[in-house]
Order: sequence, then C-alpha cells, then structure tokens
Amino acid sequence: MSAQRFDDKVVFVTGGASGLGAAAAGKFAAEGAKVVIADLNIDGATAFAATLPDGFAVKVDVSDPASVEAGFASAIEHYGHVDVIFNNAGIDGKQQKLHEMDLANWEKVRNINGDGVFFVLKYGIAALLASGGGSIVNTSSTAGLTAQDNISPYTFAKAGIVGLTRSAAVEYAKSNIRVNAVAPTVVLTPLVQNFIDTAPDPKAMAERMANFNPIPGMPTADDVANAVLFLASSDAAWITGHTLPIDGGYVAV
Ligand code: NAD
Repeated sequence: MSAQRFDDKVVFVTGGASGLGAAAAGKFAAEGAKVVIADLNIDGATAFAATLPDGFAVKVDVSDPASVEAGFASAIEHYGHVDVIFNNAGIDGKQQKLHEMDLANWEKVRNINGDGVFFVLKYGIAALLASGGGSIVNTSSTAGLTAQDNISPYTFAKAGIVGLTRSAAVEYAKSNIRVNAVAPTVVLTPLVQNFIDTAPDPKAMAERMANFNPIPGMPTADDVANAVLFLASSDAAWITGHTLPIDGGYVAV
C-alpha cells in the first residue's frame, strides 16, 4: 500500500468518542494513524477505539489538569510518543442571556471549552516537544468569530481559542509545532441535537439551524474532519496560527 499522511503517527483526540472527534479519529485511522480516544465518556471511548485498526481509549476530563496530564502519560506509555493533537472536546451549555446567566453555567462552559483547551495545550505541547514536534488542531466555532443569542460563555471560550491558537503557533513555530483551529458552523451532532432540544422553541431552532449558512443545509462531521486532517498533515506545512471556518460562507456574509 502506498504511504498515507498519518502512517506511524500517534493522534490524540479529545472528545473522540462522539461527533466531530469521532469522525476525525476515524479518518486519521483510515490514513494510517494510531489513535488515542480521550474522552470523559470512557465506555463510549472504549467501544469506539475497539472499532479502529489501532485505537486506545483513555478517560480524560479536559477541565481537570491532572486528568489531562495522566491522559498524555497513558498515551505515551501505550504508544511511546504523540505526534498530532485534535483538541476538540466541548459542551454547549445552557442557553441564557447575560443578565440572567446562571454563574455555574458560565463557569462550566468556560472550564471545559476554554481552560480545558489550555490544559490540553500545556500537557500536549510537552508531549510533542518530546517527540521532536508535531501539529495541533483546536476546535473553535463560528460562534467564536461571530455573535449569536444566548450562548455568551460558549462564544467567550471559542473566541479565546482563536487567540490561544495564534499564541501557541508563534511560541512554538521554531520548535517544529504548528497550531491551527477549525471553526465549524452547525453540524448535527449529539451536541447540536441537545442545543435544539433545550432551546425555548425547539422547532424554530431546528429550522434556524437548517437554514444557517449561504450554502444550503449543514456540513457533516466528515466535512469538518477533512479540514482537520488537512491542517494536521504536512499538506499544511506552512500554515500555522489560523482558524479555518468550515461554514458554507457563514462568516463571509
Ligand atoms: P459531541 O457532544 O458529539 O461530542 C463531544 C464529546 O466530548 C463527547 O464524546 C463528550 O463525552 C466529550 N466531552 C464532553 N466534556 C468533556 C470533558 N470535560 N472532557 C473530555 N471529554 C468531554 O459534540 P460535537 O458537536 O462533536 O462537538 C465537538 C467540538 O466541536 C466541541 O468543542 C464543540 O463546541 C465544537 N463545535 C461543534 C459544532 C457543531 O455544530 N456540532 C460547531 C462548532 C464547534
């Protein structure tokens, strides 16, 4: 078989048991990678990892630095090194206006979607440095590039990821580590189904989500995964510090 983009690479995917993480993990595996499925949902991660040619599940809570550190240590113990990180785990949170914000909601979304991305960078970059370099793709969102109603902690964290991606890219450019982000528009994953189901008017929200982008309809998780693999691969060797919208033109309007 001819060489594939991720032959002999170890790819660490947070939130890898579902949605965008699972779609990317499947594609990394199909292109030769050994894949670490790092997820809070260890049953889902274990079941999914078992379907991959060479997969390994670890329980990781990205909002807990000790858990993230232990997750990378397990991956290195199992595979010897880590080369690529898809820093992707996240939640939607409750839909609330700023002046009515439940502080626990603000804190939970910020902890997982914001601080969690930092913890994965902190321990993940240490692992990549030990491997001689690699690449990282963070998951931001069109919500980090534009404003939407009732999801301010989500937007706060996802916009923070855009800046953190630039900072990390510049800090590690001379260390053979590239750092980029994807900013997907709405994709019908379990996260978005929950977002629709918990909206004040779920039917109206489902219609809004289905008519969100200039390109009609929604991208699939595979459409996002294709962009993740491109940014993670040597095809993007001179691309670092960028956040790539996968949005059917949404942020261009
Ligand atoms: P999903 O709910 O299908 O998958 C998220 C996964 O993350 C789950 O397996 C879950 O168990 C895991 N997870 C949740 N909290 C965790 C934690 N603290 N530690 C480790 N794992 C945890 O959601 P998805 O739609 O695939 O979302 C993945 C990422 O993409 C999120 O960061 C989300 O904000 C982002 N995103 C999603 C969309 C979309 O429309 N689906 C759009 C833009 C960005």
